[in-house]
Amino acid sequence: MSTRFKQYHKKEVDMKKGLHYIILVFFLVVGTYLGMLSTTPPRIPEKIPPEDFSVQRELEHIKAIAQMPHPVGTEEHEIVRDYITKELKELGLNLEIQKTSTARRTEGGYRIYEVDNIVARLEGIDNSKAILLMAHYDSAPGAPGANDDGAGVAAILETLRALKAGSQIKNDIIVLISDAEELGLWGAKAFFDEHPWVNEIGVVLNLEARGSKGINLMFETGQNNKWLVNEFAEAARYSVGDSLLDAMYQRMPNDTDFSIFKDKGYQGMNFAYIDDWQTYHMPIDDLEHLDKRTLYHHGSPILALARHLGNMNLDAFPDGNAVYFNVFRSLMIIYSDKWVWIFTLFVGLLFVGTIVLGYWHKRLTVKGLILGFAGSGIFVGIGIALISLIWRLIGLRYGELLDRFTRDSDFRNVYLLGLAFLMIAVFSLLYALYSRWASIPDLSTGALLWWLIGMGVISVFIPGGSYLVTWPLLFAILALWEILLVRDAESFSTGRIFLLALLSIPVLLIMIPQFYTFSVAFSIGGAAFGILGVLLFLFIPYFMIVRKKDVWRFTGVIAFIGLVIILFGLFTLRVKDQPFLNEVTYHLNSDTDEGILAVRYLDDWTSQFIKESVKEELFKGLPFYGRDVFKENVQAAKIPSTEVKLLEESTDKGSRTLRLKITPTRKTFRTSAAVLSKTPVVLAEADGKPIDGNELKKKISIEHKDGYEFQLSVYGLREEGIELKLTFEGAGPVDIKILDQTFEIPNEINLPQPPKQIMVRSFAYVTKSFTY
Ligand SMILES: [Zn+2]
Repeated sequence: MSTRFKQYHKKEVDMKKGLHYIILVFFLVVGTYLGMLSTTPPRIPEKIPPEDFSVQRELEHIKAIAQMPHPVGTEEHEIVRDYITKELKELGLNLEIQKTSTARRTEGGYRIYEVDNIVARLEGIDNSKAILLMAHYDSAPGAPGANDDGAGVAAILETLRALKAGSQIKNDIIVLISDAEELGLWGAKAFFDEHPWVNEIGVVLNLEARGSKGINLMFETGQNNKWLVNEFAEAARYSVGDSLLDAMYQRMPNDTDFSIFKDKGYQGMNFAYIDDWQTYHMPIDDLEHLDKRTLYHHGSPILALARHLGNMNLDAFPDGNAVYFNVFRSLMIIYSDKWVWIFTLFVGLLFVGTIVLGYWHKRLTVKGLILGFAGSGIFVGIGIALISLIWRLIGLRYGELLDRFTRDSDFRNVYLLGLAFLMIAVFSLLYALYSRWASIPDLSTGALLWWLIGMGVISVFIPGGSYLVTWPLLFAILALWEILLVRDAESFSTGRIFLLALLSIPVLLIMIPQFYTFSVAFSIGGAAFGILGVLLFLFIPYFMIVRKKDVWRFTGVIAFIGLVIILFGLFTLRVKDQPFLNEVTYHLNSDTDEGILAVRYLDDWTSQFIKESVKEELFKGLPFYGRDVFKENVQAAKIPSTEVKLLEESTDKGSRTLRLKITPTRKTFRTSAAVLSKTPVVLAEADGKPIDGNELKKKISIEHKDGYEFQLSVYGLREEGIELKLTFEGAGPVDIKILDQTFEIPNEINLPQPPKQIMVRSFAYVTKSFTY
C-alpha cells in the first residue's frame, strides 16, 4: 500500500467517522427536542370562536380574583366570593352559598372551620349523572393566589361561559368553588358530608396549580380509570397524563379537594401545572406570574372534557385501570394494566434470549457480564458523587439559597443541562477505562440487567410506572442485538449508525418528559442524577462508536460543553433576581397593653427596624405556639380584641359548667381560646354540637404541670360568634386566653417600604385574658 493511498484511506475513514457523529448528534438532538415538546404547553390558536376556551376572557377573572391575598377570614376572601357569585349569576346558573362548619379533634384541642362554599348547577337537557367541576377560592395566607387556585376558578367560569355559548349538553354540570382548601380541604369535606347533590355526581374534575408555568398534568384519577383516560384522550387535543405520576402521587402525603371524592370511590381526574414553583403559596403567586400557554393547556381540556362527558351516559362505568403516558405531547398511549405482565414477560424473555444468543456467538462471557453488572452500578455511584460535589461548588456561589432556586425553571434548566453533559462525560470515560476488563457488549448487557431487575420490581409494585422501564428496555435490547449479531462489531457502516440512532428516538421520547417531570415534581438532586446515570445504561452500546483512542477527546468535548453551560449559569443567574421571603409579625398584648414587632430573619430591610439579634419565642408566657423570632417592644396599637362573655354558670355534684360566648370585633383568620383550669374539661359543646361526639365521658383537656389545658380554634369566626359550653370535673377558677390572628400590620406601626427583592408575609395577633 502506498503512502498516498494510506493517507487517502485515513482521510476517508475520518470523513466517514465525522458523518457518523453528525448522524448520531442529529438524532439525539431531534429526539431530545421531540421529548422536550411533551414538557412545554402548546401554542394558543389565533382565532377563538365564542364556544371555545379563551385565555383572554379567563385572564379577566384571574385579575379580579388575584388582586390581594384572600385566605379564609379576610375582607378580600369575601370580595372574591362576591365576585364569583356575581359571575355565576350573570351566566344564569342556579346558585347557593353552602354556609356550614366542620370540626376536627386534635391532640388536646379542637378546631372549627367556618365554610362558605359556592355551589351552582347548569342544567342539561337529558341528565344521567352530573359532572362536578371543582376549584377552591381561598388562597394561602400572604399569597394573591393567581395560580393557586385563581386559575382553576377562572377556568371553570370560562368553561361554563363557553358551554352556554355552544349547543346544550345532556348532563348537568355541578360547580363547587370550594372554601378552606388551604386549611385542610374543609370546604370539599363539608360539601361531601352535607350536600344532597353529592349522590348525583358521576365524574369529578378538579383544577389545581402548584407553580406558575409548564404543562398541565393530569396527575391523579379515581379507581377503574381506563374508560375515563380513554375519553380524556379522545376529548382533549393536548391531553397530558401519566400513570406513573398518579402512582407516585398516591404514595405522597399531599392532598387536594379531589382526595375527598377519590377516597369514596368516585370517578374523576385531577389537573395541575407544577413548574416554577417558587411562587407556590408565596406573595409572588400574582398576576405577573402567569403563563398564557400554561393557562390555555390547563383550562381548555376541562371544557373539552365537560362537553364530551356531558353528552355521554354516566350511569355506569366499566371496570379496569390503565397504564398511560404521552409521546409528542398530543399522543397519549393507553393500555389496560392487565397487559403489564404480558409485556414484562415478553421483554424479560427477549432479554434472556439475547443473552443466550450473545453467549452462543461468543460475544458475551459470564465473567464479563458480572463485571458489567457490578461496574455499571459503581459508575452510577461515582457519577452521583461527582455531580453532588459540583452541585456543592455551585452552591458556594449562592449559599443556602440554592435550594430555593431549584423551584425556578430558568435556573434549574441551565444547571440541569450542564450537569447532564458532565454526567455523560464521566460515563463515557468510565466505560472506556473499564472496557479493559469488560467488553462493551458485556458491559451493555450487564448494565441492562439492572433494568431487567427494575422492570420486575416496578411491574409488581407500581404497575402504572412499568411502561417507563419496559419500553426503553425493549429498544435498548434491539440496539444490543445490532451489536451482538453483527460479525465485525467494531467497524461501523453508515447504515448501522443510522439504525442505532433511530433506535434511540423512542427511548428519548419516553424518558425525557419523565426526567423533566420528576426533577420538577421532586426537585433536582442526587436522586435525579442517579436516574440519569441508570438512563445512560441504555446508551452504552453507542459508546462503541467512539473509538478507544478518541475517548479522551470525546470526553473532553462533552465535559467542556457542560462546563461552559455551568459557567454561563454562574455568571448570568443572580441571587437578586429571586425575591426572598421574610415574615413580619405584630403582637398586641391587650392585658398589658404592650406591642411587639417581630421578624423571622434579619435582612437589609428588617435590620432597619429590629435591632435585637437574639431569637426568642414569639408568645413567651402565653399558651400559644409561635416560632422563634427577633423581636422588639413597640407601641401598642388600638385594636379591639375578641370578646368572651359568661352567659351562664352552674354547678352540679362538684362539677362546674360555663356557657360562654366568643364574639369577634373584626374579621379574623383564626380565633383561638386556650382554657386553663385546675381540673379537666369533661364535656364540651360548640354552638350546641358536642365536641368529642361519642366518647362523652372522656377528658378532653390535656394535663400539664399547672393543671389542664383545652384549646379551641375557629377559622373564619363568623360575626355572630360562637357559643361554647364547658363542664369541668371540679370547681375553681378558669382562665381563658384568647388569641386572634389577622394579616395586617397596624397602621400605627410605620414600616419602611420593603425593597423589591424581599417578599413579605405579615401577621398580626391580639391576645387577651378572661377569668371566670
Ligand atoms: Zn390549591
